[in-house]
Amino acid sequence: MGDIATAVVSALEGALRDRVSTRPADLDAAAHDASSLPGARPGAVVWPLSTDDVVAVVKLCAEHAVPLTARGAGSSLEGNPIPIHGGIVLDCSRMAEVIAVRPEDLQVDVQPGVVYAALNRQLRAHALFFPPSPGGSADVATIGGMVANNASGIFSVKYGGTRDHVRAATVVTGAGEVLRLGNRARKSASGYHLLGLVVGSEGTLAIATELTLALSGLPQARRQGGFRFPDAGAAARATTDLIRFGFDVAAVYAATKGGVVQLTRSLAAAWAKDNIQVNCILPGWINTELTQGARRFRPQLHTDVETRTPANRWGNPEDLAGAAVFFCSKASDFVTGTALPVDGGFSSSMF
Ligand SMILES: Cc1cc2nc3c(=O)[nH]c(=O)nc-3n(C[C@H](O)[C@H](O)[C@H](O)COP(=O)(O)OP(=O)(O)OC[C@H]3O[C@@H](n4cnc5c(N)ncnc54)[C@H](O)[C@@H]3O)c2cc1C
Repeated sequence: MGDIATAVVSALEGALRDRVSTRPADLDAAAHDASSLPGARPGAVVWPLSTDDVVAVVKLCAEHAVPLTARGAGSSLEGNPIPIHGGIVLDCSRMAEVIAVRPEDLQVDVQPGVVYAALNRQLRAHALFFPPSPGGSADVATIGGMVANNASGIFSVKYGGTRDHVRAATVVTGAGEVLRLGNRARKSASGYHLLGLVVGSEGTLAIATELTLALSGLPQARRQGGFRFPDAGAAARATTDLIRFGFDVAAVYAATKGGVVQLTRSLAAAWAKDNIQVNCILPGWINTELTQGARRFRPQLHTDVETRTPANRWGNPEDLAGAAVFFCSKASDFVTGTALPVDGGFSSSMF
């Protein structure tokens, strides 16, 4: 049973009933995150549903001097949900209720286990969204994990990171005390910014059990383009120039040639299992085994797309990776043939 006493497990079961596990499969699942750091098994995993559950677990851990590690989806790249001292993993993924969407306040109240992409799907009906995207983990990352990591992504150039959007939080301290930090008003008063300290503290200062998030209006439309730059400095200058001269730049993603080649290859390999073809980057199409295969099966479509694409756009990833926009589709074919942007071009219909 790992390194925690039977008495502690019994006490946990008394508080959380069947939401306590010492099964090897559950311990293994809680031993890793998405980083390549070595894993460490906890002695038990618990799944709280409420602030009271969290208080009960934290108090038990404090009383018996058992280490406690909070966990969302385990998608962190930092190793911070790995229970390196064993003890108990407090898995918040079942605290997944959207408590209240308040469009009139441009805010939402959530439990920490709500998944980022699922929240935005729900907010869409209100023409709102929660902008600080955690990149490739958007479909799994929980709001609690994002808050603990102060996650930020391509939209941060306009909207900021997670910390900029957390208005208030209910948290449980290591002694089991419940604190309400911040408030719903944007207008602030002087005093220690405890909420700002907890955001980004990687689960070391307190467990978040409820969060009030500020939302933004969904843009009516967006346009996107891919550009090549000789170096990173030129790309950064172009971005600031765009902003200085009044472009509403919402997202920026910079990729190096080596990164693009690597990413294309690993995406093509990983997504092939789901029949998603990673086909194309600007200014040409990525020539992978997959795309070659697809080309054989759908020659007419590919000829059609190729005729709309500027000449000499085929090549190996190494030749073409100067600029990066990926196209992918669920079907085993290339992009639909709608306007393919080239360097400096924008398309509003790409994704
Ligand atoms: C492919 C990929 C791409 C990514 N891209 C980006 C990116 O562009 N930008 C970016 O910022 N991040 C990125 N990330 C990492 C991202 O920050 C994490 O995915 C996310 O923040 C963690 O969410 P999680 O629910 O998985 O939390 P976990 O990984 O489970 O935990 C992360 C931290 O949060 C703590 N924690 C979890 N829940 C709570 C809680 N309720 N209270 C207190 N502490 C808690 C844990 O103890 C841990 O310290 C990426 C990850 C992947 C796998």
